[in-house]
Amino acid sequence: MDAKTFDAKTLLDSLFDNGILFESGVDGLYGRSGTFEEVIERFEGIVLKVGGPDKATRIHFPPGMARAALEKTGYMKSFPQLAGCVHSFMGDERDHARLLGMMESGEDWTQMQEATEVAMTPAACYPLYPTVARQGPVPAEGLLYELSSYCFRHEPSKDPARMQLFRQREYIQIGTAVQVQAFQKSWMERGRRIVEDLDLPCEIEVANDPFFGRTGKMMANSQRDQALKFELLIPVTSIEKPTACLSFNNHQDHFGQSWGIRFADGTSCHSGCVGFGLERVALALFRHHGPDVATWPVKVRHALWGA
Ligand code: ZN
Repeated sequence: MDAKTFDAKTLLDSLFDNGILFESGVDGLYGRSGTFEEVIERFEGIVLKVGGPDKATRIHFPPGMARAALEKTGYMKSFPQLAGCVHSFMGDERDHARLLGMMESGEDWTQMQEATEVAMTPAACYPLYPTVARQGPVPAEGLLYELSSYCFRHEPSKDPARMQLFRQREYIQIGTAVQVQAFQKSWMERGRRIVEDLDLPCEIEVANDPFFGRTGKMMANSQRDQALKFELLIPVTSIEKPTACLSFNNHQDHFGQSWGIRFADGTSCHSGCVGFGLERVALALFRHHGPDVATWPVKVRHALWGA
């Protein structure tokens, strides 16, 4: 990992060569070494320590969510190109014979599968909103959650910072517009401090989600104009185009409206989340401090391992 070279392919090859990531045959789908996982665990430890005093409720969701719930969030309107739905074989014995025949003759056998009720989770916080909605009115002081999940986005790439299956750790605030703004501001400060303590260069910029198509361009512009989304960027595979490693999102009352998340007086709640891209942070650490964690700067080792 030469400090001067900043390109995705070189970094990916170097991660393979150093046994930090393992190839699967599909771009964006990799095995992780024990050390890579330990770096992620330690980083999560720092985030949890910083967020601990807020006393968030922790929930663990699997990396798949109800397809019906994904449909209701409007995800297919905004990001059809990223979504993944789990399909399965549901035929009888005759269909099975046909399926095997198709596989043997190299035909596209996937048409023998049908969509299940499960969709891959695209962002860690998506399964949370229907869960909160089911619990009834939100108390005046708001609700705070902490969760972590593998997420799927269909964007095959040689850029190791653009995996198809990756983890996000998130904090989610549900409450008034003012509560959500304060939450977003506080995590922008805390997030920057966490990253700076790891000796990583970073900047926070206003951003937009990768909305699909022409209407999507308008949505992206409006998101930027209203400064609803910010990203903490670290150069990982390019200096010109640094990678978004943390994101700070204000959804306003989008999820409150779609799911009917309300205060006792009937007004829709606002929501916001801060997401830590765990693989991206780990990649940034390996990229800037080298493949061998034993030689990382003392300051960084201290922040991660406390020694
Ligand atoms: Zn989120």
